[in-house]
Amino acid sequence: MPKHISWCLDCGVPLLQKVCGICGSVGIDVRLTGLADPRPAFEGDIKHIDEGLRNSFDVGIHEVGLDGVPIIVNRIPYMDEAFEVVVGGAIIAHVFFDLYILKWKLKPFRWFCKILLDKGLLPSIKLNCKPKSKGVIEHLSNFSSLDRGYLALIDRDGCVIGLAEADDRHIYILKTWGREECEKPIIRRRSLDDILKANVREVEMARSRACKFTVKMKERFHSSYLTLAYSGGKDSLATLSIALEAGLDPILIFNDTGLELPETVDNVHRVADRFSLDILEASAGDSFWSYLDIYGPPARDYRWCCKLCKLIPMNRLYRRVGEALSFIGQRRFESRRRSRSGSVGRNKLLPNVIYCAPINDWTMLHVWLYLRRVKLDSYANPLYREGFDRIGCYLCPYCNVAEFREVERLHEELWHRWMKYIDAWASKHSYNQVYVERHLWRWVNIPSKIANSFSINRPTRIDIDDKIGYSRMRLCYGKAIKLSIPKWFDLSLMDTSCYIYGVDFKSKNGLAIASYDDSRIYVNMDRGEATIISRDNGWRILLKILIRPIFCTKCGLCIDVCPSKALSLSNKFLFERRVCTRCGLCMRVCPSITIGFRFLSKRIESACSL
Ligand code: SF4
Ligand code: SF4
Ligand code: SF4
Ligand SMILES: [Zn+2]
Repeated sequence: MPKHISWCLDCGVPLLQKVCGICGSVGIDVRLTGLADPRPAFEGDIKHIDEGLRNSFDVGIHEVGLDGVPIIVNRIPYMDEAFEVVVGGAIIAHVFFDLYILKWKLKPFRWFCKILLDKGLLPSIKLNCKPKSKGVIEHLSNFSSLDRGYLALIDRDGCVIGLAEADDRHIYILKTWGREECEKPIIRRRSLDDILKANVREVEMARSRACKFTVKMKERFHSSYLTLAYSGGKDSLATLSIALEAGLDPILIFNDTGLELPETVDNVHRVADRFSLDILEASAGDSFWSYLDIYGPPARDYRWCCKLCKLIPMNRLYRRVGEALSFIGQRRFESRRRSRSGSVGRNKLLPNVIYCAPINDWTMLHVWLYLRRVKLDSYANPLYREGFDRIGCYLCPYCNVAEFREVERLHEELWHRWMKYIDAWASKHSYNQVYVERHLWRWVNIPSKIANSFSINRPTRIDIDDKIGYSRMRLCYGKAIKLSIPKWFDLSLMDTSCYIYGVDFKSKNGLAIASYDDSRIYVNMDRGEATIISRDNGWRILLKILIRPIFCTKCGLCIDVCPSKALSLSNKFLFERRVCTRCGLCMRVCPSITIGFRFLSKRIESACSL
């Protein structure tokens, strides 16, 4: 995977390839951090850079000569929103949303340190010897005349060789550079059209590859219904344009999770009108809010809403559509998980849909330059100009605090509804203000770095523990697990799950036994108790069988996905055993199994050391 872009120093533009399309020079390499998904900085990003500069150095972007120059930003891993800033062929700074002070900050790199030094905005220390790569500067540890903040480390010749940060007592080295002369980036005023001119060959090649791939997929799966998943984001807009260029006439599919920002919904209709395309809408309606009281806030490691607000409506829609070939705007640079996905495949939870991703190999820079090339950049969702890096559900636990701030700025009433819920939920479970302000509900198991940084003494969400009955679970003897079960426990649903997993099941007068290899589960309805005895990993299957009736919310997803129509629900679940093929799909999609099993199995593993 390429971890760099190039930069033409003569023309002052970023390059997707080595050679500049304007002057023919070979560009210099700029090594990027993380997944390396660079893009042009828009107005919102410039505002964040400006805020970072003001909060860190009390100076605005125009005072350091950065307004109007081409800036490339690249998202980097950090506790919250953070990106590196590339100007003139050099990474000049990291801009990040500081979770401690809840403000944007800017950490300058070598050349930018020099600019700030020259303007008297950055203090410095002269060092006689090469600094260690990281750590405290020992002989200056008691240096007391410094304010808190960044300071440049310079050598005898005044060359910047490092960046440090002072707190009340110590000076910590953050970064060091070699002693060679500071290279000054060559900054020129350039427009997006100039950048496109320098990259037009690579953009055309990417466009041609994507069109050929699209045509090939259409021919390969010619009998399928053609759809295009349009989310209101730039990637699906580029994919749509490629599909139209390739001669396709797809139906747009839009899944309204009920958590979309109004700009996104508007964009979907605007783009459909522009190309006179039909839209099929899947809608989750208000289901997020109805399930919220049952499940609590969604989290990065507890994404119940994806199944209920995305999978259920999409599944219902595709059941109407039938076998479909769906073009999607997925790109492998978006996330680590996506970097492992192929360009074509079958979604195992939507089995009648074959997806293909024509722009899987594109970076964001490819996408924006392509949209400019085909004059569709004005049709992109306006939220990108406001500083959003990605578009999706406005309260998604994958968002950073900085993104939530933008949602609040643009749509106060939507945000207010969510925060009213979070405030009530936090006060019910005695979470403090630090927890609420940093939106730590975004994790069930808070990453240790964040939990330690904010002295969170309960890094696991207790509302989940209450729900899964952890407090009622105890180790009986050997490898036995005893759990409480509710009065309304549905033995017939347990029977169904046993049949699907090939587990023996017998029941009589409120007593039931299920056996799988050397493991057993005993259910006693009178006592409201279930006991699992296991000598091996069989308890995992048995636990899923037990969890399904306990946590079932009657969402209906298992009924929707069953290819044999073996399941139905009136007062209780009905199961037609003779048509069931034991494909297991109903078990795989069940949100209650996923959610209940993930947490309960962890608790059992640690409690019983299985
Ligand atoms: S909020 Fe996030 S996790 Fe939930 S449905 Fe939306 S994208 Fe998925
Ligand atoms: S068993 Fe699972 S998928 Fe089926 S209705 Fe219950 S919660 Fe939904
Ligand atoms: S056919 Fe598959 S989805 Fe339907 S009930 Fe049987 S195992 Fe579940
Ligand atoms: Zn050039």
